[in-house]
Amino acid sequence: MNPSGFDHPEFDGHEKVVFGHDAGAGLYTVIAIHDTRLGPALGGCRMWPYPNTDEALTDALRLSRGMTYKNALAGLDYGGGKAVIIADPKKDKSADLMQAFGRKVDALGGLYITGEDVGLTPADMEAIGSATEHVRGTSKTHRGDPSPYTALGVYCGIQSALGHLYGSPDLRGRTVSVQGLGNVGFTLARFLHDAGAKLVVSDINSNAVDRAVAAFSARSVDTRDAHTVEADVFAPCALGAGINSTTIPQLGAPIIAGSANNQLAEPSDGKTLAERGILYAPDYVINAGGVIALARHDVEDDVLEADVRGIGETLKQIFERAKVKGEATASVADRIAEERLSAADNKNGRT
Ligand code: NAD
Repeated sequence: MNPSGFDHPEFDGHEKVVFGHDAGAGLYTVIAIHDTRLGPALGGCRMWPYPNTDEALTDALRLSRGMTYKNALAGLDYGGGKAVIIADPKKDKSADLMQAFGRKVDALGGLYITGEDVGLTPADMEAIGSATEHVRGTSKTHRGDPSPYTALGVYCGIQSALGHLYGSPDLRGRTVSVQGLGNVGFTLARFLHDAGAKLVVSDINSNAVDRAVAAFSARSVDTRDAHTVEADVFAPCALGAGINSTTIPQLGAPIIAGSANNQLAEPSDGKTLAERGILYAPDYVINAGGVIALARHDVEDDVLEADVRGIGETLKQIFERAKVKGEATASVADRIAEERLSAADNKNGRT
């Protein structure tokens, strides 16, 4: 049996972990609050038919820690948290279930603010919002789908990487291999096309590929070959763990910059990339546009856009620091986030 509680391998000093149950609604949820030094924990809720409680807990612990780093590096005054609901979104979802989850969030009094993640929709956010105000992505706190902001952040990140490597962020004549043409990938492809880039596209959904080929005069490849394409940038915008010991030697681009979460299969892959001279834009930095949009739901559009564009500047600093220190960009990003968290400690008088 796996260790649980404080001995759990994913436990990382989490401030609070709540197991919530509501018999009437059939709710089983785990809410993990990793760190609130910068502010209340902000992170989405994932609904997934986890086969057992341990896998749900593992996901909640791991994802909530990731949100601490993502929010810290995005310059947001929010900490990291994440919730999971053990249920099948295709079969088990109901307004009752969502409201019961909302009550669990509400009972935390604002320590955790929830939002959309895998398995949940804007309609679910409305149902949660009828039971708590500590939710983002409802019609009251919504700007619409956050994915265009994620795509904008990735676009700025790509420009930043090009500027670092080639001395110019100009996309004209550059080739980008975009893997995954969903909400983020398709919008990103549009930004890149409009800026003059040549596109190589791939997706397991052939309709999405056909649309991109037609809209952007793109060339299509089998998604299994997307990372091998000779290009200036590989932009993984589908699934995680695509950068691993098998794919790294096959990479055809000197830059990896895309929206997918958890792109590196192992933390050591960041070091391998650096050793091979491949510039990696850490996933949680470059894909923070969506969470910035949720966090900054109350500012004017131009202020929000400027914030999201700031991802390019953050990455520039990471690239430069990594170059000077001869380190992996992923390690540098982690350290900058930890510095911001420690500074908050000092401000709060914690040691
Ligand atoms: P999405 O579900 O809209 O799109 C994913 C696309 O990837 C789909 O078109 C799907 O057919 C395709 N796909 C799935 N498996 C594939 C494979 N093996 N090869 C190629 N294509 C494949 O998701 P999205 O919102 O566009 O998010 C894309 C990625 O970015 C995800 O990893 C997500 O976690 C991450 N992300 C998204 C946001 C956001 O704001 N939506 C924010 C941060 C991170």
